[in-house]
Amino acid sequence: MRIVILGAPGSGKGTQAAFIKETYQIAHISTGDLLRAHVRNGTPLGLKAKSVMEAGQLVSDELVLGMLADRLAADDTRNGFILDGYPRNLIQVAALDELLASVGQPLDIAVKLTVPFDIIVGRCEIRFKAEGRKDDNPDVVRERLRIYSDQTEPVVAAYRAAGRLVEIDGVGQVAEITQRIQDTLKPYA
Ligand code: ADP
Repeated sequence: MRIVILGAPGSGKGTQAAFIKETYQIAHISTGDLLRAHVRNGTPLGLKAKSVMEAGQLVSDELVLGMLADRLAADDTRNGFILDGYPRNLIQVAALDELLASVGQPLDIAVKLTVPFDIIVGRCEIRFKAEGRKDDNPDVVRERLRIYSDQTEPVVAAYRAAGRLVEIDGVGQVAEITQRIQDTLKPYA
């Protein structure tokens, strides 16, 4: 199974992707996690990405695509993958389609978690206090939501227009939302 999970920052993509990974034994590929590992390890990519991420902006398409292509080439993607945090703009949608076509592994479906922005702001505040991620600072969250509306909502619209999107209510208990996603994904398993 090859899926993309979409949703605003704080919509629960990472949490749900971890369950989906276990259920279907596929790789969970989070571009945010990969970038944070580069920052932690002080790699050349990490050095370029750090300040951009802390400001809530997007890292350059070219850098993220190179990192993703490397990750998709790893063995653990044989059963498929859930992509979390990519694509985030229309350029990345095209780049992903091209990359996956070149390896004969097209996407099955895009799943979007829908959560109202006021709930998101509250969740990010809690995460900021618990984990101290700099980009969960309320001012930066506002910027991330602005970029999401501007650049990632068109991604959602493109998958919807192409008949490749399912939308799931992302408000509720984590387990309820996992169940909704699993019900939706059954036909693709
Ligand atoms: P969230 O979805 O909650 O915003 P992520 O962990 O997915 O958090 O991403 C954190 C940051 O990493 C983003 O704000 C951005 O700076 C960078 N990033 C992650 N994925 C991408 C991507 N596909 N393109 C550009 N930048 C990205």
